[in-house]
Amino acid sequence: MPYSFDAVEKKWQQYWEENGVFNVETDPARKKFYCLEMFPYPSGALHMGHLRNYSIGDMLARFLRMKGLNVLHPMGYDAFGMPAENAAIKYGVHPNKWTWDNIEHMTNQLKRMGCSYDWRRRVESCNPDYYRWTQWLFLQFFHKGLAYRKKAPVNWCESCKTVLANEQVINEGHCWRCGTSVVKKNLEQWFLRITDYAQELLDSLEDLPGWPERVKLMQRNWIGRSEGVRLSFQVEGGDLSIETFTTRIDTIYGVTFLALAPEHPLVETIASRAENGDEIRHFAAECASVNETERTAVGSDKRGIDTGLLAVNPATGERVPIWIANYILMEYGTGAIMGVPAHDQRDFEFARAYGIPVRVVIRPSDGSVLEGETMVEAFEENGIQCNSGEFDGLPTREAIHRMARWFEEMGWGKREVNYRLRDWLISRQRYWGAPIPVVYCESCGIVPVPEENLPVELPLDIEMKPGGNPLDEAEAWMSTTCPVCGGPARRETDTMDTFICSSWYFLRFASPWTQEAPFRKEDAAYWMPVNQYIGGIEHACLHLIYARFFTKFLADLGLIEAREPFTNLLTQGMVIKDGAKMSKSKGNVVDPDEIINTYGADTARLFILFASPPEKDLDWSDQGVEGAHRFLHRVWRLVEERLDDLKRAPAKAWPMEDLEKPSTRDMKRMIHSTIRRVTHDIEEERQFNTAVARLMELSNGLSTFRPENEVDWSVFREGVETLLLCLTPIAPHICEELWEMLGNGGFVSSRAWPKADEKSLVEDEMTVVLQVNGKVRHEFRMPASLSPDKMRERILRDPSTKKRLEGKNVIKVITVPGKLVNVVVKE
Ligand SMILES: [Zn+2]
Ligand SMILES: [Zn+2]
Repeated sequence: MPYSFDAVEKKWQQYWEENGVFNVETDPARKKFYCLEMFPYPSGALHMGHLRNYSIGDMLARFLRMKGLNVLHPMGYDAFGMPAENAAIKYGVHPNKWTWDNIEHMTNQLKRMGCSYDWRRRVESCNPDYYRWTQWLFLQFFHKGLAYRKKAPVNWCESCKTVLANEQVINEGHCWRCGTSVVKKNLEQWFLRITDYAQELLDSLEDLPGWPERVKLMQRNWIGRSEGVRLSFQVEGGDLSIETFTTRIDTIYGVTFLALAPEHPLVETIASRAENGDEIRHFAAECASVNETERTAVGSDKRGIDTGLLAVNPATGERVPIWIANYILMEYGTGAIMGVPAHDQRDFEFARAYGIPVRVVIRPSDGSVLEGETMVEAFEENGIQCNSGEFDGLPTREAIHRMARWFEEMGWGKREVNYRLRDWLISRQRYWGAPIPVVYCESCGIVPVPEENLPVELPLDIEMKPGGNPLDEAEAWMSTTCPVCGGPARRETDTMDTFICSSWYFLRFASPWTQEAPFRKEDAAYWMPVNQYIGGIEHACLHLIYARFFTKFLADLGLIEAREPFTNLLTQGMVIKDGAKMSKSKGNVVDPDEIINTYGADTARLFILFASPPEKDLDWSDQGVEGAHRFLHRVWRLVEERLDDLKRAPAKAWPMEDLEKPSTRDMKRMIHSTIRRVTHDIEEERQFNTAVARLMELSNGLSTFRPENEVDWSVFREGVETLLLCLTPIAPHICEELWEMLGNGGFVSSRAWPKADEKSLVEDEMTVVLQVNGKVRHEFRMPASLSPDKMRERILRDPSTKKRLEGKNVIKVITVPGKLVNVVVKE
């Protein structure tokens, strides 16, 4: 019977499902393991990146299940988001239908991969059963004062008259649909106060030894903690002052100008006092019409306008000009900077462009000399203080410390910790998302929707058109009554950023059925935190920070105990073909369906796990796939060709000391060293590729092993069963089938992972020499533990000894334990 992967895979997928083999329950009596792969967006079809992600997760889940853990391994869909709207506009299909069709299709694809998910727990973030709780969580933030509304700049296309998501801003700041340059426009937006958690998000990265250093570094940079001084410059001849924040107060003597962002709220006041007010207003408006990416790109032109006003440096009493400059952004710091061209590269470029003086106040500690007039770039490193009054001669670190203290003593400024992290803008002026559960009442203002009225369901009878949010035209849906006063009210038409949906889905998997709460506390207490999370590095900052933030917030509400959601994080590499990441535009995409149709899921999984370690990029190779497929054929033949003997072989694990022949002992040792090494590679190293390589070695060893007796057949059978058990997490279908062919009952997937027998691992042999009349005739290898009597007996009974002594008269046998047997004969 040849290996027919298609029939085998269908058969076992059906059996697993019918028997609920991978279903799990909360069971505090058992040790748990929560294995989670990042849930996909239902784009329509799986790609190779998905296949890789899920092969890694499934291998681990299956392995740990066999190790006896209670393994939660769920799957769901991150189902809200823009592509559904784009598809609706392009193909005229409703986003709801498009999404659910895709979910069904992708679920079938996942089932064809043979992943061991508890499918009863599937969640979809676009399901009202789910987003009801997303909305409930929003209300918890709202009640704690952590969700608020304020004006904020959004991407705006003047030609389409619509807000654009960041992903819709393409080609360096242009509208994805009409190509118009995207500008910032101030609109009322909803925010979550993630900055309240900035310090904890930073500090507790230390508690995550199971995360890649690279991801932690990215998060540290994203949070961007900096210590510095907030200080004010008085505008000369008036009541105005301009606030700035600097991490380099040691450069205060080198300030030669101030610069404000064009959007700075003081720009209008300054313009009204300046002689060139109209020019200033014109310049500011012009800057606002250019998108930020262009304005602030490295090497882009620094442009500005001198307001003619002067500000007073508190440290020196010196007057410096106030400029408006295009490279200053309102979103960073205070929106105004003290310009120190000698020691800040961007200030330097600006100063050179406008002939502003460059004054050196830090000199390099190697003694080299810097001149403001001749410098070609800013000196940004630490050094020795100069031109700084009483602070001259101090090294940078000490100067920063002393000058900050001096500023505080003089009342000119305050030491402050700043973060690059901003509050999270969560409102989207789009249709396909979870509606933000608030209403606007003319008399009561912003009123949250009462929890018992959730979910605020997304109306399905809308018309998708290019531009604008269809919810703004859903009059019947929008008009409602105020829950407080009963008067007329209007629903919020903004929906939530889909990153909100994915910030808590791992908790819903713990209790997907509960209707009383987002999850049951006892389920979350048992399953959380996720022991192993697996996904792409592209989520290092957004998703993985947001999920940590939600977890900390829910812990503060007392709903969960864990303050970190994911104990271990594995970021798998990309799938590469012909030297580039697989993508439609490069035309190097391999379709998972095609691979599964041609070779089967087991081959696909085996190739993916074997071709490279999980965190490295995987180079797709057709020969590699062929090779994986041939290997499975060999495993099949290994069992099939000797099936009758295998089935007859007593299923007995012979202890090593009872095995006589060196070849049998070698086989036994190989079986157990494979178990030990494969277990180590998976459990400790997460290096599945080397685990596969070791199983290939075992398979080769077994196919060259020639059993000669009943004991040999038993050892052979032990080897074959070990191979199947260890291969199950990687290629589960073929293993189930061969396991059944061997006459074993039940599912191999539910069997215990084999244990390496220590006694079978020891290299415990001795070499004993056969002498005849004192001359060495032969060498034997045998267990070192044999008694001298047994040692002698084995050698004398060996056919080669018998042959040698044929027709001879044995006078006596001298035995030297562990060394030799000397037979004295008479010819
Ligand atoms: Zn446009
Ligand atoms: Zn009201």
